[in-house]
Amino acid sequence: MCGIVGYIGHREAYPIILNGLKRLEYRGYDSAGIALFDGEDIKLSKTKGKVNDLETKIESEISTNGTLGIGHTRWATHGIPNDVNSHPHYSNSGNLVIIHNGIIENYESLKKELIKRGYSFTSDTDTEILINLIEDVKLKENVKLGKAVQIALNQVVGAYAVAVFDKDKPNEIVVAKLGSPLAIGIGDNEFFIASDATPFLEYTKNAIYLEDEEMAIIRRHKDVEIRKIKDDSLVNPYVQELQMNLEQIEKGGYDHFMLKEIFEQPSAIKDTYRGRLLSKEAIIKMAGVEDNMKRFLNAERIIFVACGTSWHAGLVAEYIFEDLVRIPVEVEYASEFRYRNPVIKENDVVIAISQSGETADTLAAIKLAKSKGAFVFGVCNVVGSSIARESDAGAYTHAGPEIGVASTKAFTTQITLLTLIALRLARAKGTISSSNYRLHLLELEMIPEKVKAALKSDNLIKKIADIYKDVPNFLYLGRGYNFPVALEGALKLKEISYIHAEGYPAAEMKHGPIALIDENMPIVVIATKKGHYDKIVSNIQEIKSRKGRIIAIVTEGDTTVKELADHVIEVPETLELLTPLLTTIPLQLLSYHIAVMLEKNVDQPRNLAKSVTVE
Ligand code: GLU
Repeated sequence: MCGIVGYIGHREAYPIILNGLKRLEYRGYDSAGIALFDGEDIKLSKTKGKVNDLETKIESEISTNGTLGIGHTRWATHGIPNDVNSHPHYSNSGNLVIIHNGIIENYESLKKELIKRGYSFTSDTDTEILINLIEDVKLKENVKLGKAVQIALNQVVGAYAVAVFDKDKPNEIVVAKLGSPLAIGIGDNEFFIASDATPFLEYTKNAIYLEDEEMAIIRRHKDVEIRKIKDDSLVNPYVQELQMNLEQIEKGGYDHFMLKEIFEQPSAIKDTYRGRLLSKEAIIKMAGVEDNMKRFLNAERIIFVACGTSWHAGLVAEYIFEDLVRIPVEVEYASEFRYRNPVIKENDVVIAISQSGETADTLAAIKLAKSKGAFVFGVCNVVGSSIARESDAGAYTHAGPEIGVASTKAFTTQITLLTLIALRLARAKGTISSSNYRLHLLELEMIPEKVKAALKSDNLIKKIADIYKDVPNFLYLGRGYNFPVALEGALKLKEISYIHAEGYPAAEMKHGPIALIDENMPIVVIATKKGHYDKIVSNIQEIKSRKGRIIAIVTEGDTTVKELADHVIEVPETLELLTPLLTTIPLQLLSYHIAVMLEKNVDQPRNLAKSVTVE
């Protein structure tokens, strides 16, 4: 999510860190901050806004000399983007300072413990809890910083890449990682720390990439000592020589942000349910839902308002909510809803979905719904966004920044979050049995691995893309939970390859689109084993009789459709209502590869914008 940078050596740290933050800004950009050690004390400056805002502020605020420092560009998960929540964060004594990328899941229980022990907090971040936990361990156990970080991290559940230093021991920086990236650049008598190698590429090409559950003590003019966080065992550092250029590293080695974001989905989905889905205890914990349970359960109707891909997520949610929660659902285009004098009642619940949280029409729809007394729940990715602020309550998807204009991980994480909400409400309402509830939680927890398996079809999909890249039209068909996925697949293709594509509920084909089918028409059919499998097989037969070219998305091991279709792409088996999280993946990849082969600008397709702030 965010970007972290650090330096310890013989040069001035400030310009290295500042330029490094600029290069990492694609990772998160709602606030930025730097802490330097000037030989006597810590000098810290931070602000809401971009790295440029920090640059303007910092030089008037602190002296920027010092050869040790850490910097952060934040992508908020806990607490809105403001000056106080920005990193770095001090410990209570002011001796320790930290930057953190990730989420500390058990921050609430740690916070309670620390408050009991006399600690207080100025920010709303999970990060400030962690630095005080480290301080508490350090004082209580009377250990060095490295040991304190290690003991503290063994109490932490979640994901992190952290860098910490101690003003009383200003010749070392301690870093650690689990789930978030961290690279150490090895220079000549100097060390660099960063989320990826872009900040230090001009100084050194030698880097160590920490593995999960590893920490490193980086000592000025000395060495890097790497240990396993769990058992303290020493790890032999593996120094790689970097071959990639700046741009390749920013995109994590992928050719485009879109592809990177497609491949990030296993971890993005995990980040969405991290700390919320506790399958062992069979609990879903979401404060925004819990605190407003009455309003949800008294709802006569749930109305999803959204635009574009988020609207498709709303459609998937309609199927999930009606099935699990048994409350009538409507899904509205925000732009239509806001202008058509809709009937909105006080006991309606409006769920607004938007990646950026800035979509102008969705924002206006929220205001309208609120003015009629409805309860508005926001589902956004960007913390502190306008929709998040305007809603009565809400939950973030925590997917990390999405840079590619065509939405991918935002879609699957929205569905994940909405599934969690539906399951929680169903449990509270008693519309799901406890065994079925448990089963759903366990299956949801397996989705990231299954998405990984689905991503393995990448090469096969590339070959299929090559065959069909020059056709003028595509048709996408699906039924039930996968009807909205067909719409989303068609939208992805249109957006980035400029090929005309339409999505339809498979049975509707006979009411019009079937007239388009001939031997030149590729038809993508989502035909997973669950639900209306037999019906969709009949639809495939109908297409086949008209010589349509069939690209079928099927459940692993399927044989029936394999015999009928021209191409099959397999996805792992899962519960029916979770299939959209898997069937979406090949459709994203198909559109991506076609667009690349047609030499289109995948990350910035013509005429589109990432955040639609005009109506
Ligand atoms: N959870 C931390 C926060 O909200 C770090 C977020 C990040 O990775 O930028 O401040």
